[in-house]
Amino acid sequence: MSTAEQWTVDSVRAALGAKKVSARELTTEYYARIEKQNPELNAFLALCPERAYAQAERIDGKIARGEPLPPLAGVPMAIKDVISTRGVTTTCGSRILENYIPPYDAWAVECLERAGAVLLGKTNCDEFAMGSSNENSAYGPVRNPVARDRVPGGSSGGSAAAVAAGLAVAALGTDTGGSIRQPGALCGVPGMMPTYGRVSRYGLIAFASSLDRIGPLATSVRDAAAVLGVIAGRDPNDSTAAAVSVPDYLAGLQQPVKGLRIGIPKEYFAEGMDPAVRQKVEAGVELLKCLGCQPVELRMPHTDYAIATYYVIATAEASSNLARYDGVRYGLRIAGSTLLEMYKKTRGRGFGSEVKRRIMLGTYALSAGYYDAYYLKAQRVRTLIARDFGEAFGHVDAIITPTSPVPAFRLGERTAEPLQMYLADIYTVTGSLAGVPGISVPCGKTPAGLPVGLQILGPRFGEASVLQIAQAFEEAGGYTI
Ligand code: GLN
Repeated sequence: MSTAEQWTVDSVRAALGAKKVSARELTTEYYARIEKQNPELNAFLALCPERAYAQAERIDGKIARGEPLPPLAGVPMAIKDVISTRGVTTTCGSRILENYIPPYDAWAVECLERAGAVLLGKTNCDEFAMGSSNENSAYGPVRNPVARDRVPGGSSGGSAAAVAAGLAVAALGTDTGGSIRQPGALCGVPGMMPTYGRVSRYGLIAFASSLDRIGPLATSVRDAAAVLGVIAGRDPNDSTAAAVSVPDYLAGLQQPVKGLRIGIPKEYFAEGMDPAVRQKVEAGVELLKCLGCQPVELRMPHTDYAIATYYVIATAEASSNLARYDGVRYGLRIAGSTLLEMYKKTRGRGFGSEVKRRIMLGTYALSAGYYDAYYLKAQRVRTLIARDFGEAFGHVDAIITPTSPVPAFRLGERTAEPLQMYLADIYTVTGSLAGVPGISVPCGKTPAGLPVGLQILGPRFGEASVLQIAQAFEEAGGYTI
């Protein structure tokens, strides 16, 4: 964080209301910060000042006329570049969509603007959200603002870095297997994955449709709750956006946590965790106990199969979803003398190596003869993992785990070995497969000064209690434990 003021949703509202600053001035301030820091961080891929200033003018007009302000009035925000924005280039971190300008806004983007948010631009990410370090972007890696020789985590690395560096008050990320929570943990900011179906995926460019979710990154639990409240709810454009009523997340934040039962699954505290991460997460659990939460030891016996299951299902869905980039309808086209040659050249040059690896893995898992052995088996294990969660939530209100087994690693340190990279997702993919909500909150730093994240998982549509525990943790000083 620079010495510049760290704005929050509430402080923006108060300053606008008291006419200490205008939405236009605030927008200018954020663009100045971006101009200064983005050349090094590479968190933003595109800026949309025209759109941002037009929105700022609308908010300033409301203030001048004394009209009531919507919940995110004037709040400068950033949007991960896999989320469609009308008239603003949306690349998915890929060459194949380098010049793609969506003709419509994602539902979540529409909700944010209706709520008064000022959208500054689009953030860098792993290509089609595939990765855990942001090094798979066709537009270069993002640097972690806390330690600039290190990765910010992925795939929503640009959103996490932008928020952590004070280049946006909050941001949207997407989480398929950990991509909001893990970069949140590595950059030291809260990141929330809502329940599958809580936020419409309309306009979210698909990676793995049964897993993809949109959610907020912010500098406080309160701000994450404010953004979630705005984007959550039913959307007729997405049949998986559930018709479950959305509670007032902000009002629920102050509910007491005393007496809540927190599950500590043995499988998440086995070997393989960095000792400094372990020490902080264990201290985090102690803090929750001091707040009156009751620890319950849990067994979640199918945890070991989660990475394999996730990488079969996610790649299978990706191979199908990415078939649409064929050079015909939109996106890159490289001409060839035959149709097949055009496909090959377009996809060969348009996609990066990780995306190609996943298309091949997924196509293989779905092919006749291997479908039962891989894809169907993975679907069955997914059900067992979801059942582990269902049973656990019969006994506990929330589950506490580390977010990532390691703190931010150095740029380039893991790129040679894809499997090593996949293992970074070990604590996050389970909740993704089970469809439950989870937040990563900062939980101190390692002796080397690298942020550690604590993950709080809740039952389906139980975001309110996840946020409530996260809020109590934050208030009790958990971030600097
Ligand atoms: N790191 C995981 C992957 O590479 C998760 C990505 C995500 O959540 N989008 O698939």
